[in-house]
Amino acid sequence: MFLYLAICLACPAVLVLLSAKSQPNRRAFPIPTHCAALFFVLPLALLLSSCGGGSSNSGGGGGGANSTPIASLGTSSYTFNAQMTGTTSAAQSFNLTNIGTGPLQISSVAVTGSNASSFSVTTGTGACAASLAANGSCLIYVTFNPASVANCSATLTVTDNSATPTQSIALSGAATPGLGVNQTPDTRATAMLGLMTQAEKLQLVQGGVTTNNTYGYTVPRGAAGWVPGIVRLGVPELYLADGSVGVGNGVGPATALPSSLANTASWDLNEATKYGNIIGTELADYGINVNLGGNTNLIGREPRDGRTFETKGEDPILAGKFAAAHIAAIQAQHIIGDIKHFSFNDQETGRTTANAIIDERSGRESDLLAFEIGVKDSNVQSVMCSYNLTNGQYDCENEYLLNQVLKGDWNFPGFVMSDWWATESTVNAAINGLDQEQPNQQYFSVLGQAVTQSQVPQSRLDNMVQRILRAMYAVGIFDNPQNIQTPNFAADGAVAQEIEETGAVLLQNNNNLLPLNAATIKSIAVISGHADAYVLSGGGSAQVQPNGGGMVQPTQPCPPCWAQVIWDPSSPLQAIHAIAPNATITFNDGTDQAAAATLAQSSQVAIVFVTQWASEGMDEPGIDIGATDADPISYPESQTALVQSVVAANPNTIVVLENGGPVYVSSASQAGALLEAWFPGQNGGPAIADLLFGKTNPSGKLPVTFPMGDSQLPRPAIPQPTPDGLPFAVNFTEGLNVGYKYFDANHLTPWFPFGFGLSYTTFTMTNAQLVNNLSSASKPNFQVTFTLTNTGARVGAEVPQIYLGMPANLNEPPKRLVGWQKVSLNPGAAQQVTIEVDQNDSSQPMSYWNTANETWTVAPGVYTVYLGNSSVQANLTTVGTITVN
Ligand code: BGC
Repeated sequence: MFLYLAICLACPAVLVLLSAKSQPNRRAFPIPTHCAALFFVLPLALLLSSCGGGSSNSGGGGGGANSTPIASLGTSSYTFNAQMTGTTSAAQSFNLTNIGTGPLQISSVAVTGSNASSFSVTTGTGACAASLAANGSCLIYVTFNPASVANCSATLTVTDNSATPTQSIALSGAATPGLGVNQTPDTRATAMLGLMTQAEKLQLVQGGVTTNNTYGYTVPRGAAGWVPGIVRLGVPELYLADGSVGVGNGVGPATALPSSLANTASWDLNEATKYGNIIGTELADYGINVNLGGNTNLIGREPRDGRTFETKGEDPILAGKFAAAHIAAIQAQHIIGDIKHFSFNDQETGRTTANAIIDERSGRESDLLAFEIGVKDSNVQSVMCSYNLTNGQYDCENEYLLNQVLKGDWNFPGFVMSDWWATESTVNAAINGLDQEQPNQQYFSVLGQAVTQSQVPQSRLDNMVQRILRAMYAVGIFDNPQNIQTPNFAADGAVAQEIEETGAVLLQNNNNLLPLNAATIKSIAVISGHADAYVLSGGGSAQVQPNGGGMVQPTQPCPPCWAQVIWDPSSPLQAIHAIAPNATITFNDGTDQAAAATLAQSSQVAIVFVTQWASEGMDEPGIDIGATDADPISYPESQTALVQSVVAANPNTIVVLENGGPVYVSSASQAGALLEAWFPGQNGGPAIADLLFGKTNPSGKLPVTFPMGDSQLPRPAIPQPTPDGLPFAVNFTEGLNVGYKYFDANHLTPWFPFGFGLSYTTFTMTNAQLVNNLSSASKPNFQVTFTLTNTGARVGAEVPQIYLGMPANLNEPPKRLVGWQKVSLNPGAAQQVTIEVDQNDSSQPMSYWNTANETWTVAPGVYTVYLGNSSVQANLTTVGTITVN
C-alpha cells in the first residue's frame, strides 16, 4: 500500500496523466511511471547558456551568448535576467552589445542572484567598464562563489551614466522598446508579442503536452500541464500544477495543508495569507509557475459536492475574500494564480454535461459575486473555465461568462484557460473568450488554420497571447529566476498545524466536557478513523502527496474510479499521548462495535473519529452519514452506529469529524462533545490533540450550513446525467438563496448554522452602535461599533459577524453576511471593535444586481443591521436600521 507513494515521492519529476476510461480525454490522474532525470534538466534558460561543467546541457564554463534582447529605451538602467541550469564551475560571461546610436557610458554593472553565497563581476575584453561605442560589444564576467553551485541564476543591471541615456543595449540581440523591466506588464507583453512569429503565438495558447498512448501523456516536473517556452525570445516555459490544499499532482512531496474550507473556517484573512504563502513557496521551490488553485465554487448549492473541501464555503463574500487572499499570497511568489472553476460548477455528478440554469440576478449575486471579489481583490492572472454548461452554453465558450462578465464588466486583464479537456470547439471557444486550451491541443491545434481562414481574427489570437504574456510579466516570471530547492517542511508543517487549530470548529460541548485536563485524566479510549497513525485527506487533482509519505488505501473508490484515498501521516493517538503521558490511552480500530463500546465504558472518556472521504469526480451519497450507512470508502463500518454504541457506553464521548464538508451524524447529537476537524492536514494529529486539551482554544466558525439531512437541501436528490450523454438541466431554482439564505428563507433549522462555533471561553457584545457614513463622497460606509468582552477564564477568539437585511421590496434573502472580524482576547479583557462595511467594496455589500441597467445598485429603502456570532436569528441582535433615500 505504500508502494505508490514511495514511487511517487522518489520520482516526482515524471508523471503519466491518464484520463479515466469512463470519460476519455476528460479527466487526468497522475501515476508515476519511471524516473527520468531528464526532466530535471529541461532547459530553464530564459536567456543564456548553462552554468557550465556538470550539466548535461552545459555549454561549458565561460558560457554561451545570449541571443535575447532585453532592453528599454529612455531609461538609464537595464536589467537582464540570466538563468542557468546545471552546475557552474567557472566564471560566466555575458556578451553585452550596445545597439544604440551613441556611446554607452557604463558606470556600473551590478549582479544579484541566487544559489550562490556571493557574486562578483569583472569586465573582460571590450572595455565594459568605460565607454561602449554604438554597435560595440564587451563581455561581463560573473563569478559565482562557491565556484560550483547548482541552478544558479543572476540578474545583471547595467547603468548608463551618459548625459542623455537613451541608448538601447542588449545581451546580443536587437533591443525592443517596451521590454524593459520599468515598463508595465501590458507594454512589455505588447512589445514581446510584436517579436513573435505566428507559430510562436500559437504555441502559447495551447497546452504543450503530447499524447504518448491512448490515455496518457507526460508532463515535465510532475505538473498537470506545461506550455513550452520560446527560447529565441526568452519567454519562459509555464509549468502548471494544482495547489488548492498544498502542492498537487506528481510535483513532489509537499506540506498537506488542512482543507481550504478549514482555512476559511478560521474567518481570519491573515491565516488565509499564510495558507497561500505555503502553497506559493512550495510551488516555487519545485519550479512551478502557474497554480491551478483558487476553487471558488459556491458549494451551498450542492453541499454534497465532492470538491467542497477545496472551496471556501457557501457565502460569496467570505469565499471571495478567502480566495483572493490565497491567490494574492501565491502570486507574491512570482506564480500565476488561478481562480476556478468559472462558473456554476457546483456538482461533480455529470459535471461535463450538467447545464446550470440560473437567472442573471441570482447568478451575479451568488457564484459570480464570489468570483468577482476573487478576481478584483487579488489581481489574479488566470481564470479556469469549467466543464459544465451555463444556461445552455459550455462554460469554456460561454460568451456571457467570459466576454461580457469577466473580460467586459470586470476588466479582467489576464487569460482564461480551460479546465482539463473542457474545451469544446476551436472557433467558438476562441471567439467567446477562451485564451488557452489545456492540457493539450485537441481544438487549438487548428486555431492557426481558423485564423488563416478568417474564422478567428488575427487580433483575437494576438489578444490571447498578449493576455498570457502580460500575466507572466505581471507576476514577475520574466524577472525572477527560479530557485529550485527543497521546501522548508519543518516551518511549513508548523504553519499547517496553526491553520488547523484556527479552523477547526467546536460544535458541541455539553457540561464543558472539553477541554480535557491533561494533569488529571486517567484513561482515554481512542476509537476508529485510523487515529492511531493517520488523518484523512481529500482526493482528486487537489490531492497532496504528503511530506513523509502516508497510507494509500489499496481500493480505489468508484466513482470517481481514478482518485486515491490517502491518509496523511499524523497520529492523533500519539499526540494525545504526548500531552497526557500519565493517562492510559488505548486504541480500538472501531471495526468491532461491541469491543469499542466495552473499551469506552472502562475509560474515563472516549474519542471517536468519524471520517468521510471526498474527492473530485464524485459527490457524497448523502449529507446524513447514517442514512448512507457511513462511508464505505474511507471507513467501511457504520460510523453512526459506532458512535451510538460508544455514547451509550460512555456519555463522555467526544466525536471528531474528519471530512470534506457539511455532514449529519445523528448519533453525534447525543455525544458529549463534537469537533469538526475537516481534512486536518499533515499536522492534524497534534492540532486535534491541542484543541481537545485546550492548549489551543477552538475559534473556528462554520463557513457552511450543516443541514439535518438531504431533505433540507434545495435538491434533495442530486440531478443525474442522462444516458444519452447530452446536457441535462440542473435548475438552480433556489436562485439567490444559497446556503444559510435558503435556510432563512424557508424557515429551516439546520443541525448547525453558518457562522457558528463554540469556544472554551465566553464572550459578550455590548453597547452596539451604528454609525452611518453613507453620505461620505469619498468612502460611503457604515460602521458597527461595540464592546467585545471575554467573560470566561481562558484566552480565546470570537468572530463577531455583521448581517444586513435588505429593503423588503427587493425580494432579497432575509439577510446577507457583509462583515466580520476575528478578535482574540485575554480572560476578562474587553475591546472596542469597529466593523466597517464599505458600500463600494468589491463585495457589493449593499447592492443588488440591477438587470434593467446591468449594474450593481444601492436601492432606496430601509436596511436592517444585525450583529452576532452565527447566521441564526437567535444569535443576532438588531443594531439599527439605515434608510437610503
Ligand atoms: C480539475 C481541475 C484541475 C485540473 C488539472 C481537472 O480535472 O477539474 O481543478 O486543476 O484537472 O489537474
